[in-house]
Amino acid sequence: MSSENQEPVKTICPYCGVGCGIMVQPGDEPGDMQFRPWGDAPVNEGRICIKGGAATEVVDHEDRLTDPLIKEDGEFREATWEEAFEYIISELERIREEHGPDGMGFFGSSKTFNEENYLIQKLARRYGTNQVDNCTRMCHASTVWALRTSLGMGAMTNSMADLEEAADLFWIQGANPGEQHPIANSQYFRQAVLEGATVIQVDPHANKTTRSFQIDETDRHMHLQLEPGTDIPLLNAVIKTILEKHEENPDEGWIDEEFIEERTEGFEHLKETLADFDKEEAAEQCGVPLEDIELAAEKYAMANNAAIFTGMGMSQHTCGVDNVQNEINLSLITGNVGRPGTGVNPLRGQNNVQGTCDVGAMPNVLPGYQLVDDDEARESVEEVWGFEIPDEPGLTNVEISHAIGDTVHGLYVMGENPIMSEPDGNAAERRFKEDLEFLCVQDIFMTETAELADVVLPATSWAERGGTVTNTDRRVQLMRPVEKVHENTRHDLDILCEVGTRLFGEGFDFEGPEEVFEELREVCPIMHGMTYDLLGEEGLHWPCYEPGDEGDEYLYEEEFETENGLGQIEGVRHQPPKETPDEEYPLILTTARLEEHYNTGTMSRRSPTLNRQHPENFVDVHPNDAEEYGIEDGDEVTIKSRRGEITVTANVTEDIKEGAIWTTPHFAAASANRLTNDVLDERAKIPEYKAAAAEIEVDLEPSGGEAAASDD
Ligand code: SF4
Repeated sequence: MSSENQEPVKTICPYCGVGCGIMVQPGDEPGDMQFRPWGDAPVNEGRICIKGGAATEVVDHEDRLTDPLIKEDGEFREATWEEAFEYIISELERIREEHGPDGMGFFGSSKTFNEENYLIQKLARRYGTNQVDNCTRMCHASTVWALRTSLGMGAMTNSMADLEEAADLFWIQGANPGEQHPIANSQYFRQAVLEGATVIQVDPHANKTTRSFQIDETDRHMHLQLEPGTDIPLLNAVIKTILEKHEENPDEGWIDEEFIEERTEGFEHLKETLADFDKEEAAEQCGVPLEDIELAAEKYAMANNAAIFTGMGMSQHTCGVDNVQNEINLSLITGNVGRPGTGVNPLRGQNNVQGTCDVGAMPNVLPGYQLVDDDEARESVEEVWGFEIPDEPGLTNVEISHAIGDTVHGLYVMGENPIMSEPDGNAAERRFKEDLEFLCVQDIFMTETAELADVVLPATSWAERGGTVTNTDRRVQLMRPVEKVHENTRHDLDILCEVGTRLFGEGFDFEGPEEVFEELREVCPIMHGMTYDLLGEEGLHWPCYEPGDEGDEYLYEEEFETENGLGQIEGVRHQPPKETPDEEYPLILTTARLEEHYNTGTMSRRSPTLNRQHPENFVDVHPNDAEEYGIEDGDEVTIKSRRGEITVTANVTEDIKEGAIWTTPHFAAASANRLTNDVLDERAKIPEYKAAAAEIEVDLEPSGGEAAASDD
């Protein structure tokens, strides 16, 4: 049949967490797929960013893995699926016998679907360990922790559409939707701004978001360009301003006394924490004029509906939980939660990072965020699964990596690339290479992590299989398969079913994703009311407890989902990053992603359209620092930290704060993660990607950009 006669398939963009609908037109040959706009897609109504438009480019890329591979004498050889499965099963059994079930770790993936992540966490737990995690640990673990503990659910309190319609003010801290969530930015924020909404952006780096809010040519928007790692003092100065103004003018509505009284607890603790807080000192620490902070505080407090958007600039710190808690404090004392256009809203990075957590691919929670150490919750899941679940939370993914060679001896990785995504990547690579007894990777490309594996399983891509994904505002949507490209590849779901059935005999015999979803909804209360039929083309927001529930566009209208139904306020104090500049490393290195690239670059570096704009890494350096270190725009420079060095091109710009440098994690040899610090937030165990001490020097003998080359 020619391509014109085939119906385009409605599915979801495989890149970011906005969850835009796209259509894929099948061609004459498998893999010959073309992007088509989906005009009435529920999230984006046909709009698309550069990544979504280029999504089909990698489906039939020449680098696709097409056959299972087994490593022998340091070299991969092609193997049959039977050989690969026999090898995997014998190693999984050996490790459990020699080291116990906690000798293994399992990594799910935000690039894969809810059903697949549900199955990998079930597989880990049936194996006898809670050591299963996913890359949300690296991006929003602290946000999920703070939101779950203080409000009840680890997700956006509101939805994008509701915010566009109702919010008068967007407080965007440590997030860059202009670059990372382009359709959310252009469709929802921009529209609200055109209709009069104000934007307060808090970020050490001026970026596409900053520039995109200049569209209405007013000066009502603000960019507070703070020093990296000073978000707590800045928010404390905002909150203290609001409290002081309320004392002076109690009738002006600076805080919402009724809301605080009836719906929260901990306000006294916040006031005590700030009693001796010095705003002048804080402003100096942040590098932001106090009058700007006070003006921003006034704008937030006086808005009818103010919504906070939070990103990895807040979460990726050793004080990440406290950073987000302070945003929650601000929203609770002003009553800006539980209504349309308000709340605390994390913008999630990958297309299914929200769903991967929702379905329990985390070491401390079962599907629907039921705690593994809650006997009642655990027993209710055990009843459906028919086996005992370990009752102690497992190690997180960075902890699993740190424990390699000590308590962890084997790893099963589905669709992730930890060698590139972990902080202190050089040390992670050494551990994977030297101390891991068994590494199984299932992926579509030979990633940096797959290179180190003992067995590599060729999976199918996003366009070849079906399942559900959950976007940043809790909307569960169906991804529909177009067609399979390489005959000998297998869907992630089928691989996990085969491994589970061979290991345990039962509990993994599913016909397809819908059958898995039916079991998932049985054990996951927040998704219990969803079926594939009910999801349809619009999808449904969770919580959706019973069939027929429409799902909630915003949460906590009546009460919070905490134990006593109250929102938890808790004062927090400044904690500097674990590494601060010194004589040897006088600059503070901070990192973030680019619009055209996607995390470890496995897909985006192979996409000609996406790679064209930024084929190599670079570093933003303030003109005053450039002068001090003798750097000219375009020079090749070496950045060093205590953990490694990379060579990149200098971009001299006032976009970055003086004393700080800014680079990206997408490029293999020149990834920022060769430099980042692997210290963790104590509670959420998220690494401190956003602040490391570094030095920079001009390369006297240019290497010709070798270190920055893509690994395509
Ligand atoms: Fe895809 Fe995100 Fe772009 Fe939408 S905004 S097209 S989901 S990358």
